[in-house]
Formats: sequence, C-alpha cells, structure tokens
Amino acid sequence: TVNVRPLVAGNWKMNGTRESLDQIKAIAEGVNDTLSEKVDTLICPPATLLYVATALVEDSPLEIGAQDCHQNVSGAHTGDISADMIADVFASYVIVGHSERRTDYAETDHLVRAKAEAAHAATLIAIICIGETAEERQAGQTLDVLKRQLAGSVPPTATAANTVIAYEPVWAIGTGLTPTVEDVRIAHAFMRDELTRHLGDEGRSVRILYGGSVKPGNAKELMAVENVDGALVGGASLKAADFLAIYGVY
Ligand code: PEP
Repeated sequence: TVNVRPLVAGNWKMNGTRESLDQIKAIAEGVNDTLSEKVDTLICPPATLLYVATALVEDSPLEIGAQDCHQNVSGAHTGDISADMIADVFASYVIVGHSERRTDYAETDHLVRAKAEAAHAATLIAIICIGETAEERQAGQTLDVLKRQLAGSVPPTATAANTVIAYEPVWAIGTGLTPTVEDVRIAHAFMRDELTRHLGDEGRSVRILYGGSVKPGNAKELMAVENVDGALVGGASLKAADFLAIYGVY
C-alpha cells in the first residue's frame, strides 16, 4: 500500500457562531507544530463563518472548508452557495454528500457527483461522503452500498489531489457507536480496491477517511487501521481540545 498524507477534518454541521471562532483560533495554534509537516488538518464551520475563519487561520497550516455546495456555478438557487463562492473566501475544501444531506434533502449519488465536479472546477478538494444505514448493514449489504455509492458519486476526473472519500456508516454518526476495527479494515480495503479499479493508480493514494463517533478515546485504534487515512469528526471537532487530541494520535 502507498503511504498517503493523513487528513484530520472537522465537520461542525449547523453549529457555531462568532463566539466559536475562539475554538478555530485554538485549533489553528495547536496544529502549528512539527506534526503538521505530516498531517493535514481542516475545519468545516457553517457558511456564515467561512470568510472570517479563513482570515483567522492565515498563519496556520489549518485549512477551512465548507459543508456543501450547489452543483451549478451561479443562478436562481435561493439559499444555495456555489463552489466558486467557497473558493472566493479562500476555503479549500468542501464536503459533499454527507448522509445528513442525503437524508434531509434526498441527495442522490448522481447529484453528489455533480457537486464534486463543481468543486473540482472551482479548484476545491471534494470530500465525498458514503456509508451504509443500519438496515443495510443488518441485511449484509454494506459493501454493495459502498460499491454503488463510489461508482455513482465519484467523478472519473477524481484524483488524489482533488478528492477525499469519507466512509461514514450512517448508524455511527452522532451515536457513540463505531464499527469494529475489523469491519473498518474490511470496508476500507474494499473501497481502496474499488477506487483503484475506477481511477487506476491514482486510486491508490486517494485519502479514505473514517467518520462516525470518532473521539479522543477511540481515534488511535481507528486511525491505525490499514487504508484509514484520517478522520472526519463531527461532535468532537467543536472543542479544540478534543480535535487536537484526535490530531495528536498521529
Ligand atoms: C459527521 O458529521 O461527519 C460525523 C462523523 O459526526 P460524529 O463524529 O459526531 O459522529
């Protein structure tokens, strides 16, 4: 296997006001160390904080990203934000296809792929989220779901530089539940094979994050699994100390 540079990413979801910028500041200071030479870090605050957040992290390796983008460049889409707008405020990543968006807004693989393509066109790195529901897991369909979502959501133009995959079992998000280390190993090995089948050699170094109830207490064993190239962290990314403890397992 190829050694890829890990990414520890935080997804704040619909949490955070100007007050929370103190946490971003603390994270930016905390990752300004020698570890940042080998581990990338990212916080995705709500859109309202993007512009001020990117200014705050100017002197830090910490990157700022958005949580979603529209698939079109501009136009009559009230309430939406384009990938170009995200790039315009100096953010460098965007999450697409998070399970909460797939559920709340019925986002399909086809749409998620269009959003990833829009992100690439704006020179953003797309973090494409996939993962099975509890029902799908119980029915033994986990790998089938991952195969279908990868085939449907990852554009053929994806490269290791412009795309990150986040494997987030839906039942593990915000629940405190995580798959066993062996289940994570099997899922990530499978996704690696699929990415290589779709993208050739490039697929070997596309980062595959694990997400779903990653905490300081379980991060070490999860991040040590083969083909786990970092974490997408929800709840535990809201507190600088927790996020930095997860980063610190590397
Ligand atoms: C997420 O929202 O991507 C996530 C993984 O949430 P949590 O860490 O809270 O389970």
